[in-house]
Parts: sequence; C-alpha cells; structure tokens
Amino acid sequence: MIYQDKLKQEIISAGLQLLQKGLVSRTFGNISIRLNNEQMLITPSGRKYDDLRLSDIVAVNIHSGRFAGKIHPSSEYKLHAAIYENRPEINAVIHTHQQNASTISVARKTLPSILDDQAQLIGEDVRVAEYADSSSDKLVENVVRAIENRMAAMMANHGAICIGRDIEEAFVVSQVLEKAAKAFIEASFIGGANAIDRNNAIKLHREYQGNYSAEARKNR
Ligand SMILES: [Zn+2]
Repeated sequence: MIYQDKLKQEIISAGLQLLQKGLVSRTFGNISIRLNNEQMLITPSGRKYDDLRLSDIVAVNIHSGRFAGKIHPSSEYKLHAAIYENRPEINAVIHTHQQNASTISVARKTLPSILDDQAQLIGEDVRVAEYADSSSDKLVENVVRAIENRMAAMMANHGAICIGRDIEEAFVVSQVLEKAAKAFIEASFIGGANAIDRNNAIKLHREYQGNYSAEARKNR
C-alpha cells in the first residue's frame, strides 16, 4: 500500500472509531492528516463515516485550499489547514461535535486541567474559541488563538477540535477531553471541580510531550 493510501486508511479507521465511541454522528465532524508541508488529506463533505472509501478522502493544499478531483473536502477544511500552518509539530486534526465538550462550549467556560491524563495530553486548560459562523475565517482565527500551546480547544456552541503529532494521539486527546468535560460537569453537582495547579499541569504536559517523542523514536 502506498504511503498516501496508508494515511487515507488511518483517517477512515479513526472515523469509525469516533463513531463507535459516540464522539461524532452521521456526517458531522471531520478528520485530517498532514501528508507533507504542502498538503493534507481530509474527509469529504457530507459523507457518512461508515461507508467512506480511500478514493473519498481528499488531498487539499494547506496554503491555497486547492484540491484535485470532483469530491469536495469537508466545509471546515480551513480550520485544519490553519492548524497545520501554525503548528509544525502537528500531523493530525480531529474536529468533533462530542457531547460533553459541546455542553461546556455552550456554557462558554474554560475547562481547567482536572485530571492527570488530561493535563499530560492536552496542557494547562481547554479554552472555548469565541463564536463565529462555521467555516468562516473569523472562526479559524478564534480557534487558532484558543488552541495555542494546547492540544485541544472547544468552539463556542459548536464542538471541539483535538490535535496530535499523529492520528492516534489526536484520537486519545478527543477521548480524554470528553472524559474530563464529563467529570467537570458532574463535579458541579457535588460542589464543583478542583483544578490541578496550573504550573503543575503545564509541567505534566511538557514532560509527557518529551517522553512521548522519545518513546516514538525508540520504536521507529
Ligand atoms: Zn463542526
């Protein structure tokens, strides 16, 4: 299997896993992987996750938004492209409409780091990007700002964006975000969540990122 097809298959598998975990439904949300410095591969517009084929995944130029072929990329492709442009270490982006993170995005509250694995994977907190029309340039700008130095952000009244150095990491980020969002909401019923000290959360994240890279190198 050629490299590009291998990545397309990873996108399809991630879509099925997201569907299975209830993090996306029907055609909502989208997934991309960086192919090289110029291009990303992304899920098509308006297609269901459970019948995607390799030929449905679209290669889009990160800088110009141009794509070849008849199949249109997800309408939210600009969001993905902007993240690849701004974050050279990031190779995968998942945009979900996951339930608990969406609830917090509606309340428009910052989710502090309240769980160890959340701090390790995502960073000091998860901020809500200010509301703007979906697929607008304004929304892209707001999300890029909200996710700075972090691996996830929420989008006001919309959903979440989770990123990773590979697709597996982005997928785990979306799962851990969902778990933390749920814990944050439920803790409010019993007096409220206590956050991990901010500096400690930042330290946990830095350590995790360093270790992860070292482990990945060892297994290459
Ligand atoms: Zn969306």
